[in-house]
Amino acid sequence: MKMKKIFSLLLAGAMSLALAACAPSAPAEPQATETAPAAEAQTEAPAAEAEGGKYVGVLMPTQSSQRWIQDGDNMKKQLEAKGYTVDLQYAEDVVENQVSQLENMVTKGVNVLVIASIDGEALTAVIDKAAEAGIKVIAYDRLIRGSGNITYYATFDNFKVGVQQGSYIADKLGLADGKGPFNVELFGGSPDDNNAYFFYDGAMSILQPYIDKGQLVVKSGQTGMDKVSTLRWDGATAQARMDNILSASYSDGSKVDAVLSPYDGISIGILSSLKAVGYGSADQPLPIVTGQDAEVPSVKSIIAGEQAQTVFKDTRTLAEKTVQMVDAVLQGKEAEVNDTTTYDNGVKVVPSFLCDPVSVDASNYKEVLIDSGYYTEDQLK
Ligand code: BGC
Repeated sequence: MKMKKIFSLLLAGAMSLALAACAPSAPAEPQATETAPAAEAQTEAPAAEAEGGKYVGVLMPTQSSQRWIQDGDNMKKQLEAKGYTVDLQYAEDVVENQVSQLENMVTKGVNVLVIASIDGEALTAVIDKAAEAGIKVIAYDRLIRGSGNITYYATFDNFKVGVQQGSYIADKLGLADGKGPFNVELFGGSPDDNNAYFFYDGAMSILQPYIDKGQLVVKSGQTGMDKVSTLRWDGATAQARMDNILSASYSDGSKVDAVLSPYDGISIGILSSLKAVGYGSADQPLPIVTGQDAEVPSVKSIIAGEQAQTVFKDTRTLAEKTVQMVDAVLQGKEAEVNDTTTYDNGVKVVPSFLCDPVSVDASNYKEVLIDSGYYTEDQLK
């Protein structure tokens, strides 16, 4: 496996469950739910506008997922409020697009780059060019691997995200009380995204002991990131894999009791596959399906009793921490970090700030998502 996985269960355990650790300092506006057309979301910031070293390039992976639109919007809003000129670009999950966007930004003379990478290993050469031009690079949400020129990394506690997904399945099935055996199927994120390994390892730190004891059975036999990953986090790819698993391993009448899903877009694909073969009726309830990002379609699905759980990552907070890093690097100061051991990118351990993820289901979505001002009630109807 290319990705080097360094994590600590102890660290994950010790991280506070409290939202407060990473709470935004002021309630922000509810998040947009519509996918903005590409042209509107891009901001062209000519170099001439970039006065006084306050020109920031922000690169996001795709607008096909609501979370990244929110990340981009929050970054732009918060940076502009501090007087920065922002060039925000989305690459629609095409690695080459992201590389050429980066090259353009280096040419235009940005002062700082904030990058949420598509492929965490594909940017080394262009980042080296940026460094030669004196441009500092901050990795946003996803670690950029193989470069010594990453100054900071702002993200969430990615191992803990997986722990929350695995624990949800374990709790709902009563595994700690010895119940079982239950059938579970496993899905992972994109193999070129460092986070995907942390999510999977976090989840398996909870689920593997029950697999070993026979309380959980993976009927497909597909375990390990080499078998369960989903390239580019694509929901349709996950749906097709679930279709195959259902026909190959469950046509004998046995039922799936839980599905580990790392991301809401994947969860929606898995649920479609399950519903197509009759799950979701009174005599054949849907399995417990996890998720991540609290995207609107998934929160609605949770409210409707379909998807069971998601993990909320407050993009307002992540933007706030990243903007503090931008300020620090431009002022030659040290930024606040809370982890200096976990994120080894193969060349250096990147000083990181890890925000706190929150597990959300039907019992707490109002408090976590509406009362915090992240969504309005109307957005979830
Ligand atoms: C992010 C997740 C997201 C996934 C798919 C990961 O790198 O950390 O929040 O669900 O990418 O976009």
